[in-house]
Amino acid sequence: MEMLPNVQRMSAEQNFSPQIQQQDINQRAEFDNSGMNNFAGGQYTSCTRHIEKKVEYFCKTCSDTVCARCIFDEHNGHELVQIEDMATSLKQNVLDLQKMILNASRLNEENSKLLDQTRDELARLKQQQLKNIDKGFADLFRKLDEKKMELKAEFDKKFRSEEQRLLTKMSMIASNFEEITNI
Ligand SMILES: [Zn+2]
Ligand SMILES: [Zn+2]
Repeated sequence: MEMLPNVQRMSAEQNFSPQIQQQDINQRAEFDNSGMNNFAGGQYTSCTRHIEKKVEYFCKTCSDTVCARCIFDEHNGHELVQIEDMATSLKQNVLDLQKMILNASRLNEENSKLLDQTRDELARLKQQQLKNIDKGFADLFRKLDEKKMELKAEFDKKFRSEEQRLLTKMSMIASNFEEITNI
């Protein structure tokens, strides 16, 4: 029971050991220096195989950066370009890509405008078609109404003439009847 606090304290000391912290810092420093070296006042990227040599070429065969020693070694006979030329060509590729993206977005914008126009045109055509249907039916109703009035007028005319004939016959009968009673 008496030993327990001691053990805990020791384990805590181990976790925050200054030795481990220093080791960690050293590892980080090593990592930071792995790519870049100071040479003649300017920074350069060193070869991964020959740490003291500067990367000067790009091997297109292996897609890797190489130094002057590498080109007579593992990359002998490979397709090599100067790193500056490679950088220039890569920068140009980036510029070309930016142009392509700009063009694509412009094209997208134009297409979306065109779609908007087509949608508006379709909405206009729909309204026009609905108006045409309304007008067509209004014309049809007007014509039917005209036809109805025409039929009524025609019927009325026939009725009046029949009525007239009937009245004439009735007055003839009446006068005949008068003649007969006077005999
Ligand atoms: Zn090398
Ligand atoms: Zn190579």
